[in-house]
Amino acid sequence: MNYFSDDSKYIANTYKRFGLVLTHGKGTKVYDADNKEYIDMASGIAVNTFGIADEKWISAVEEQLGKIQHASNLYYTEPQIKLSKLLCEKAGMKKVFFSNSGAEANECAIKTARKYADMKNPDKKVILTLVNSFHGRTVTTLTATGQDKMHVSFGPFTDGFRYIPANDIEAFKTEIAKGDVCAVMFELVQGEGGVLPLDKAYVDELVKIARENDILVVVDEVQTGNGRTGAMYCYMNYGFTPDIVSTAKGLGGGLPIGATMFSEKTENVLTFGDHGSTYGGNPICAAGAVSIVERLDDELFAEVQKKGEYLKEKISSFEGVKSVSGMGLMMGIETEKPAADCIRECMENGLLVISAKEKVRLLPALNISWEDIDKALEIMKNAFKN
Ligand SMILES: *Cc1c(COP(=O)(O)O)cnc(C)c1O
Repeated sequence: MNYFSDDSKYIANTYKRFGLVLTHGKGTKVYDADNKEYIDMASGIAVNTFGIADEKWISAVEEQLGKIQHASNLYYTEPQIKLSKLLCEKAGMKKVFFSNSGAEANECAIKTARKYADMKNPDKKVILTLVNSFHGRTVTTLTATGQDKMHVSFGPFTDGFRYIPANDIEAFKTEIAKGDVCAVMFELVQGEGGVLPLDKAYVDELVKIARENDILVVVDEVQTGNGRTGAMYCYMNYGFTPDIVSTAKGLGGGLPIGATMFSEKTENVLTFGDHGSTYGGNPICAAGAVSIVERLDDELFAEVQKKGEYLKEKISSFEGVKSVSGMGLMMGIETEKPAADCIRECMENGLLVISAKEKVRLLPALNISWEDIDKALEIMKNAFKN
């Protein structure tokens, strides 16, 4: 089999892939078809929360595989119920709807915001999102995504979205003064947009004004969630509780699952027949997710913060590095050389990192060892040099 030519012949050409076939791995080590070893600092884009072939996750998934692989949501299944309780407790939320991806989790959040508006004031249906955001690839979540470049060719779009620049509270005030806004939706650290954390003062003010005006605060934690930023959810770093939270990526530890969580204010908005999913909360995905979420605790978050700070401090001092942004183990590095060159050089030397806009992005497993961190740093140091 010729991987590269068969891929381009038979798979729709939507991805610009690195020239590597990944076959297996363990923890933060991953191997290609030539058995070359890499330290994995991408984690399948923040998905493999505890690394590759993580024992606890495998046991949970295997145990469930032997019981029932799927039941549909016409019946109750234990893993889904267990997961919902765990998630609500850890997130400080009231209810959850399960889906299969980040985009779907956001679709559900958007539908909920729209219905909330419908119940309260049907003239207020606009959802504000941020310029440079990323919320998914379905037509509506793409509409929510504040990047013109991604909109080319895919219109007409869903009505009722407007965009505001991040960290500009006046722009927010101007938009809500129009009287038609029901919700504001944002990532606390823009991931695909370049690993850009929102300013704390901006978020404080925005949440306060939203509350005063009965505007729902919807936080997209698809990438930032599940321990990634050194807290269960990133809003905990900012000290507020959203009305709706979406998450996916790291939640399933490698199997597809999305979750939309509702606060007291929104828990009863969706009712019988309003929404559904054939696979959503599938028992295997849910059992895997339980084994992930169970281990997300304060001790781990402290480690994530410590490792993140260590990486940031070291990388900031490297020759050829202009800036380092991010939170916890979600990091963006602005390099003097083009990011693509840095990433390629890292790969050649046994380290997988990815990009975010013009930056090099790191999203290692949350339990990456200090030894692997130091090895990765050595490779980055050489790769980022001019
Ligand atoms: C990845 C991502 C999504 C989309 O998730 P999919 O599972 O690819 O649909 C949405 N929002 C954010 C912030 C993301 O990082």
